[in-house]
Amino acid sequence: MATRRGVNVYLISHDETAVLVDSGTPDMAKPLLKSMSSEPALTDLKLSDVVLTHGHYDHAGGAADIASSSGATVWAHPAEGDLLRRGEWRRDTAASPTLHGRLLTALVANRYPDRLTPIREVQQIADIIPIANGLRAHHLPGHALGQLAIEWKASDGKTTIFAGDVFMDLFGPREPILYEDRLVGLRSISALADLAKTADRIALGHGGPLEVTEALLRKIRQLSNP
Ligand SMILES: [Zn+2]
Ligand SMILES: [Zn+2]
Repeated sequence: MATRRGVNVYLISHDETAVLVDSGTPDMAKPLLKSMSSEPALTDLKLSDVVLTHGHYDHAGGAADIASSSGATVWAHPAEGDLLRRGEWRRDTAASPTLHGRLLTALVANRYPDRLTPIREVQQIADIIPIANGLRAHHLPGHALGQLAIEWKASDGKTTIFAGDVFMDLFGPREPILYEDRLVGLRSISALADLAKTADRIALGHGGPLEVTEALLRKIRQLSNP
């Protein structure tokens, strides 16, 4: 996992290949590529794919540069791919009606540029992404129209759900800072709690990762019912 200014990018390895889950903001592309070519644990891996949980600036911003430098295939939900191919990411959003939502939307999200480097080719994600032994994608819209939770079973048998911004961890589980549709997003938070019952870990776009416990599932369900 790499983190910069509160944005997480994850690397999963399978045999000799590496897959990035999300790509960070545009300025994260160079440091990510550099650590892949210089860190001893990573230099034997070939970066094959970048899987985007959704198309927002802080998750898809680095993907164009990473793909053109490494030849990696970029994957996203069709609703996000159409925007990203045009170099766009913003739709109509509203800050979640919470203190952290209003503050961070004004101070961070609203200050991101409206455009990012167009991603020439984006593969459409259906239920199963045929890489890393099969990643399962679950459509959990609301924060973003094409928001996905990506389920990955590692070779040690542990299951991680990469949940992007379905919710965030800011000194505990919190609603995402903004929504494209809050009612839909709250239902997706509840759906994620159901999905996570059989998982070991939830890896988020911001904060975490979180070990799945009964107490955590309860807190996530509470979030979905403010
Ligand atoms: Zn987002
Ligand atoms: Zn985010």
